[in-house]
Amino acid sequence: MHTPPAWPPIDPDRANPAGPVLVVGGAGYIGSHTVRLLEQRKVPVVVLDNLSTGHREAVRVPFEHCELSDRAAIAKVLAKHQPCAVVHFAAKCYVGESVTDPAKYYRENVIHTFHLLEEMRAAGIQDLVFSSSCATYGEPTKLPLTEEHTQLPISPYGKTKLHMEHMLADYARAYGLRFAALRYFNAAGASQAGDLGEDHDPETHLIPLVLQVALGQRKEIAIFGDDYPTPDGTCIRDYVHVEDLARAHLAALVRLQEGRAPILCNLGTGTGFSVKQVIQTARKVTGHPIPVRIEPRRPGDPPELYSGGTLAYDLLGWKPRRAGIEEIVRDAWNFLSKHREGYAH
Ligand code: UDP
Repeated sequence: MHTPPAWPPIDPDRANPAGPVLVVGGAGYIGSHTVRLLEQRKVPVVVLDNLSTGHREAVRVPFEHCELSDRAAIAKVLAKHQPCAVVHFAAKCYVGESVTDPAKYYRENVIHTFHLLEEMRAAGIQDLVFSSSCATYGEPTKLPLTEEHTQLPISPYGKTKLHMEHMLADYARAYGLRFAALRYFNAAGASQAGDLGEDHDPETHLIPLVLQVALGQRKEIAIFGDDYPTPDGTCIRDYVHVEDLARAHLAALVRLQEGRAPILCNLGTGTGFSVKQVIQTARKVTGHPIPVRIEPRRPGDPPELYSGGTLAYDLLGWKPRRAGIEEIVRDAWNFLSKHREGYAH
């Protein structure tokens, strides 16, 4: 059984890390929400992004356009802004694509993270918060998924995230890196203000796709399998509000700055919702009938994934505040109705 550490309590809503904080991938979905929260807490923050999938419109703090393949450019950014901590979101994150093009995932996730770590080491920057994933666990043998579950990822995506966790642990032992690896479940929702949200091209995630049907941009939503061993036959996932994820990063930064590391924990709500439940919620929120089409199962999709345990609370004082699927879908709908074509329009 897990024994909570004897760390003093921390409140993620009052956690104000020291800055400047460099957010790598800060123009992306989860990154931009974290940057916004740092800004709101008056923490100096700089974004480094290559805009391959991120959006310049989502960033209003100092911005550095930089490729992580270019070590000299990373070094220049670090020398210019002198960050005391880094939050690293930049990665490729499509499970299916990682199967057909693993080289892209090993290069962009593993090698580029190595570049960042090396330049941080050269610059004497010790603290790193890293986006890991529940995909590092692979097929669950036991639910809910707690941090004690074996990590046997099945997709190249999950494997690269696990390689990166291992790299961080080795750097911590050898070079004194202090890191937090936060294993997200299904990030979803959008900022309550409606100005930040999910805008991927191509979009593959369930909630935005369902809402695009409600907007009339798609005819129907494909349900990938309705014959799973779940109550309604569709896959169950743990959807966690992107603003809740952002809160956890600030608490993790504070913990690292207190010298408490390493931190490895799940970020989920502990409650799963099926694909059909998500669609039903979207019908209620949008008032649109949202037609469906049943398709075969998507390869590599486990029937159920949801987080368990209290480690994120024990380590970071973190509990999701906005864990209702209706609130998550409502915020995503608010963003999408204001940005029908994404940030560009
Ligand atoms: N899904 C679906 N139709 C879609 C997209 C996703 O039925 O068009 C299902 C998918 O099989 C999974 C769940 O919705 O069970 C969440 O998928 P998503 O791609 O949003 O996130 P993932 O769990 O793959 O990270």
